[in-house]
Amino acid sequence: MFDAFRKEMFEMRAMLFCTINDFPAYGNLNSYNVKGHHACPICEENISYIQLKHGRKIVYSRHHRFLTPNHPYRRLKKAFNESQEHDIAPIPLTSEQVYQRVQHLNTVFGKTQKKDKSKTCIWKKRSIFFDLLYWSDLDVRHCIDVMHVEKNVCDNVIETLHNIQGKTKDGLNTRQDLAEMGI
Ligand SMILES: [Zn+2]
Repeated sequence: MFDAFRKEMFEMRAMLFCTINDFPAYGNLNSYNVKGHHACPICEENISYIQLKHGRKIVYSRHHRFLTPNHPYRRLKKAFNESQEHDIAPIPLTSEQVYQRVQHLNTVFGKTQKKDKSKTCIWKKRSIFFDLLYWSDLDVRHCIDVMHVEKNVCDNVIETLHNIQGKTKDGLNTRQDLAEMGI
């Protein structure tokens, strides 16, 4: 690099410390399958979900597990599918545990092989970031950009409220699912 003030060259070193991104990008960067039945890398197989009958969308439920043990919302039956919540929040994996999950994954790229869907792992591959010598030692490798996620959620709410063609989440399937849930 060139130091314009001192008018001399110097060697600059850079380090990728963590990534900041929304949830779908997190799936690519962390090689975790963020869609479908195990979309949460904290809950993994212990995730709680409902698949809607008509819209086929997957709804992730029981988020009040993450509240403090005596939080009053835990006892609200009516607001949460007629059930109280007594389970505690799952514990996020440590960075070592994540590394153990992916370090031996061998990925064949391209479309040469037919994938056996029953064997697909929720961890997809060993991320190329692990080629960085320090990457496996980092405590936190990826951060969710909350403002970006909020913007996406807000877009969907606004587009549904204004019934914008092609964007609204309202429709026949949605109405049928609501009726099914007694809403
Ligand atoms: Zn989760």
